[in-house]
Amino acid sequence: MMTSNSVIKYQKDICVICDNDNLEEVLSLPNFPLTGIYVDDYNTEKFMPADQALLFCSCCQHAQLLNHLDPVYLYHETYTHRSSLSPIAKRGNDFFVDYLDTLINGRKFKTILEVGCNDLYMLEKLSSKGEHIFGLDPIWEGRESEAKTYENISVLGKFVEDINPANDLNSSPDLIVSTHTFEHINEPKEVMKQLVDLAAPGALIAIEVPSLDTLLELNRFDQVFHQHIHYYSLASFKYLINSLGCTYVSHTYNYSYWGGTMLIAFEKISNNENFDNQKNITRRAIDSSISRFKAQLSSFNDLINIQRDLSKIYGYGGAQMLPTIAYHLDSDLSWCEAILDDDESRNNKMYPHMPVKIIKPSADFSLADSAVFIGALDSARPILNRLISLNPKRILHPLTIM
Ligand SMILES: [Zn+2]
Repeated sequence: MMTSNSVIKYQKDICVICDNDNLEEVLSLPNFPLTGIYVDDYNTEKFMPADQALLFCSCCQHAQLLNHLDPVYLYHETYTHRSSLSPIAKRGNDFFVDYLDTLINGRKFKTILEVGCNDLYMLEKLSSKGEHIFGLDPIWEGRESEAKTYENISVLGKFVEDINPANDLNSSPDLIVSTHTFEHINEPKEVMKQLVDLAAPGALIAIEVPSLDTLLELNRFDQVFHQHIHYYSLASFKYLINSLGCTYVSHTYNYSYWGGTMLIAFEKISNNENFDNQKNITRRAIDSSISRFKAQLSSFNDLINIQRDLSKIYGYGGAQMLPTIAYHLDSDLSWCEAILDDDESRNNKMYPHMPVKIIKPSADFSLADSAVFIGALDSARPILNRLISLNPKRILHPLTIM
């Protein structure tokens, strides 16, 4: 298969958080597949993989991708799928708003800004918490008027850097929220600085991102993919907050979302305390986590090889990220009968360059003589429940912790 490195727009080997130019490459990902793409025929010249690598900054404890792919290439097929949130993402937003409620304690805001408002689900949940609610997302560009929602909500189809405060907002936001956006932004410090400049003095800012700390705890290197450019640790996010001249308030984790996303809040209040950058992550800890990840997948491969002689093998959960699991298994999953998935929109779809079909199982589908592996690791628990009700001969999980 050809590698399509022409889609690499640029390489970034300087830490975006602390400007350290001595980053360590901890994981090399040559010929790394794109994710989140479903096609009718796997045999395509499109969606070729591109080289990638994960870099670690031992100065501020941040991890980031080396290669920044052209967003037109990266998102052009997946954009349309982003218009409505998955059930996991909805529950994630519910958790975020519950966390926010513990911080604001009934306080009402003048102007709330959500960065990356997607399908407006959270924006609508926030509508009772402020006078004016603004949602920002370039996916709404040119169709802002289609965003039919509550009267006090306005949707701006633009990027943060394109906001014109005098025209777009009624006043400086005193609450800014953003979930699952800052891992996708090429230069998060620049964008965060623009947001802090935009914010009212004393404003509360709450952000949710995937966590490097939980990724390492769970050995989830399959969660490293082209679209997530940044992997924040608690330490690197606190470093960012401090470098913006703001004050950390609190953080928590949502353990049922991506194994543990990080929710972190800070205020636009200058911090006069000495900043203590606690360093919890060592290069050795990262290498150990990668070794555990590889050992578990190697053991999974051995178990699959035994099962292949005994039973049909199915996957369950046609997750967007399944191509990264297949990549780390060094397999195209051609030994698999099909990937089962209850999502109608994925029925009969395939992943680029993987000769296995996603099938919605019929009501009388039997797995009695088959082995099944969990293909969507971030939905492992609900899938396990479903599999137990289907009672397959064997159930396999590629990793040993969920
Ligand atoms: Zn750094």
